[in-house]
Amino acid sequence: MNKLGLHANVWVRDWGRDDCVLAVNKTAELGFDIIEISAPDPKALDIAFTARQLDKAGIRANLSLGLDAESDISSGDPARVRAGEARLRDVIAAAGDLGASHVCGILYSAFQKYAEPPTAAGIAGAVEVLSRVGEEAARHGITLGLEVVNRYETNVLNTAVQGVELCRMIGLPNVRIHLDSYHMNIEEADMELAIVDAGEHLGYFHIGESNRGYLGAGSVDFPRIFNGLARIDYSGPIVFESFSSTVVGQPLCGILGIWRNLWDDGEDLARHAKTFMLAHLQAAREGKAEPRRSALPA
Ligand code: MN
Repeated sequence: MNKLGLHANVWVRDWGRDDCVLAVNKTAELGFDIIEISAPDPKALDIAFTARQLDKAGIRANLSLGLDAESDISSGDPARVRAGEARLRDVIAAAGDLGASHVCGILYSAFQKYAEPPTAAGIAGAVEVLSRVGEEAARHGITLGLEVVNRYETNVLNTAVQGVELCRMIGLPNVRIHLDSYHMNIEEADMELAIVDAGEHLGYFHIGESNRGYLGAGSVDFPRIFNGLARIDYSGPIVFESFSSTVVGQPLCGILGIWRNLWDDGEDLARHAKTFMLAHLQAAREGKAEPRRSALPA
């Protein structure tokens, strides 16, 4: 059974103590297993306090981030590559202290619109760093999820097959692809096939609508997404991600282009998302079982 999660931005913008208590307790109250916390600066998180709240509530946290231009490990610039490796090591250490199972996001390049395609030397540099930090993550029992995002947020991984190629270059069982239905809806020719292509390399999944609001109130073909997950027997986390100007502040709001208020009530949104995810998981399981029930009389 997949662990279901919720991105912290459904509840809070920052991660002060009051934010942490509210977000962790609400996430647990709605029956989610995981809260995903943005950790662009893991040193700014109060790890010990957060770990206590998670223990009390009986849920786990994962950390996510995107690198920036100054820490871009795909840049080919030695100083930036070193800065990126240091950032990744910091977030892995924080995740280890938090008891997290996954660190995910744009861990292989800057989280930005690029003006040029990536270079072979840049990719090779990113592979070298991810191989080292992947081994470090394994020592903490952590899986790294390389999030495949749309062309406006990176120039390296825009499709699942590119993710498979990068994972193969790194060659570690705990460095996997992280897919997100919002991004797939922009870039993949066939979302179900993309999930099948990711196959055993898929390690993390973000479920999000085309406008990043309520699931089902957009154009993502969710039955095909969940059919794809069922076809590969995906058993990893599925985390709901949604952003509204009600909660998200800068710099994330600027990078992601969150200009509109898609919802006011995060609790209603999250409750609906959980029902939606469970219904689609069950429908896909039943659909997969259908051929077995369709045998002609012998
Ligand atoms: Mn995502």
